[in-house]
Amino acid sequence: MVDEKLSLKLLMIEDNPDDEALVLRSIRKGGFDVDHQRVENRDQLLEALRQQDWDIVLSDYQLPEFNGLAALRTVKERAPDLPFIIVSGTIGEELAVEAMRAGAQDYLMKDNLARLVPAIRRELNDADERRALRLARETLRYQAYHDILTGLPNRWLLHDRLEQVFAFARKQGTHPTIMFLDLDRFKNLNDTLGHLLGDQLLRAVADRLREVISEQDTLARLGGDDFVLLFSDMPDPDAALARAREIQALFTPPFRLDGKEIYLDASIGIARYPESGTDPDILIKHAEAAMYYAKDRGGNSIQLSSDEIQSATASRFTIENDLRCAIKNDRLEVYYQPQFELGTGKVTGVEALVRWPHPEEGMIAPDRFIPIAEETGIILGLGDWVLRRAMADARRLEAAGCLPPRLAINLSARQLYHQETLTLLQDLLADNPLDGRFLELEITESGIMQNPEQAVANLSVMRELGIRVAIDDFGTGYSSLAYLKRFPIDILKIDRSFVRDLALDQDDEAIIRTIIAMAETLNMRVIAEGIETREQLERLHHLGCQEGQGYYFARPMPCEDLIRFFRDRACA
Ligand code: C2E
Ligand code: CA
Ligand code: CA
Repeated sequence: MVDEKLSLKLLMIEDNPDDEALVLRSIRKGGFDVDHQRVENRDQLLEALRQQDWDIVLSDYQLPEFNGLAALRTVKERAPDLPFIIVSGTIGEELAVEAMRAGAQDYLMKDNLARLVPAIRRELNDADERRALRLARETLRYQAYHDILTGLPNRWLLHDRLEQVFAFARKQGTHPTIMFLDLDRFKNLNDTLGHLLGDQLLRAVADRLREVISEQDTLARLGGDDFVLLFSDMPDPDAALARAREIQALFTPPFRLDGKEIYLDASIGIARYPESGTDPDILIKHAEAAMYYAKDRGGNSIQLSSDEIQSATASRFTIENDLRCAIKNDRLEVYYQPQFELGTGKVTGVEALVRWPHPEEGMIAPDRFIPIAEETGIILGLGDWVLRRAMADARRLEAAGCLPPRLAINLSARQLYHQETLTLLQDLLADNPLDGRFLELEITESGIMQNPEQAVANLSVMRELGIRVAIDDFGTGYSSLAYLKRFPIDILKIDRSFVRDLALDQDDEAIIRTIIAMAETLNMRVIAEGIETREQLERLHHLGCQEGQGYYFARPMPCEDLIRFFRDRACA
């Protein structure tokens, strides 16, 4: 058997050349090809550690300018995985134990070097394992404190930094400032672009934000599209506002991804230490609250935290939490409003409208919680809940012998682009003997325009299931014939604002005429919403509108009442 020589880069801490020769001889005899250097003091040691990576350190214990324990500490600080063996003539039991505690791997006596080669072989092996273990630990630690997607500090590291910066501020009177930045409509974009591009976009945003952050400041990502910037000292609110405007300006050039140009806006909320609070969590919350306030004003704006904002946001958070609970515990309800043929008064369908009976606040109207649900993404769960419930109610109506010809359900734009909603629709229709043609989905124009290509694709899938599509609140958006032609749409719902002023406003009548004419050309049905008076009904009928719904006929009602409503009419 031919022994292959193992190469060994050996660093010796030793003042005696005779001992050096002795040790080298026994290592070479043990089958190593040694490349070595001898050092005698701390400076030489540091220099040697700087110059190259060593495989092992053998150190004497007592040297004129140095001792083994100090050498050990120096080595472990700079190269924590480098094995360190003490080879000494004089070390006593106690010192040996101390050295092992301090991280030495082994100790040997100069007059008995028999164990030296086996010890070196063992340590070379162990060193690899130790290195792997340390790297794994470091990775874990890194991951615990960083956001994997962007590599930015996460919530926990931000928290640590806040505590440090606030401790400094308490002593020095500086003014740390927090900015909470959120991208406008990112959740919609993420649904429409797909998560891969959404992730790329977030990375690109992080890169732009990094540009404005200096050494002393911190940029963190809390998850989703929530970024926090911590500035360790900003003299006054005006300086903070000016800085926030600079940050907003970073978003002016579009982001280029996958050949697309994406325009993004950001809303920024600002909270300052100590005016808005002295506790990290509270300050983040206040900055976030101010951000929501900025967003509610239409987005792309900046807001400094204030007392009023703080209480307004508290109620928003309460709604958000309560709503999640209500969905989870099946505590929402669906009401149904019948739709009629204007000429004959025959029922043509019902529209499902979600209701939230709140234990303290009574019945909360959708206008108060749907926008929050849209903003937070709750709308996906809520919308799917409504779909399921309405389909279950349809079976009840069928069992009671009063199934209306059609069931219309409102679909949020986010559901339109959400693959799971499409799957849910397929499942619901597969489970249900009701034909797809029974189902009608109401979507707003702005929803369709968010991503027209994707909308056409998804609407076509619905079409194949037999589902009909209505444009809700029609007339308030783009409303051009050219765009309508591109979409698989069956019904236009005339927005209630046009119906309201029908008798008073000539313009509204002209708009309704146009909508009806458009619908005829494109072979679509027209339905008017919000009919409250006989005059409105007659006017609409005269203009050629075939169907309508509104308080004049019936208000939205629970499923039981709807059954009664149908039975009463059947007897009438
Ligand atoms: P929308 O889709 O335009 O629904 C029609 C709204 O007009 C309903 O308000 C209905 O109660 C109301 N309405 C019906 N007839 C009349 C009338 O004669 N006069 C007046 N003044 N109002 C009338 P509601 O139920 O408060 O719903 C408000 C909005 O919330 C809906 O507007 C819809 O955009 C949204 N929404 C309701 N349920 C859902 C749902 O399940 N999912 C989604 N995504 N949105 C929903
Ligand atoms: Ca509707
Ligand atoms: Ca509507």
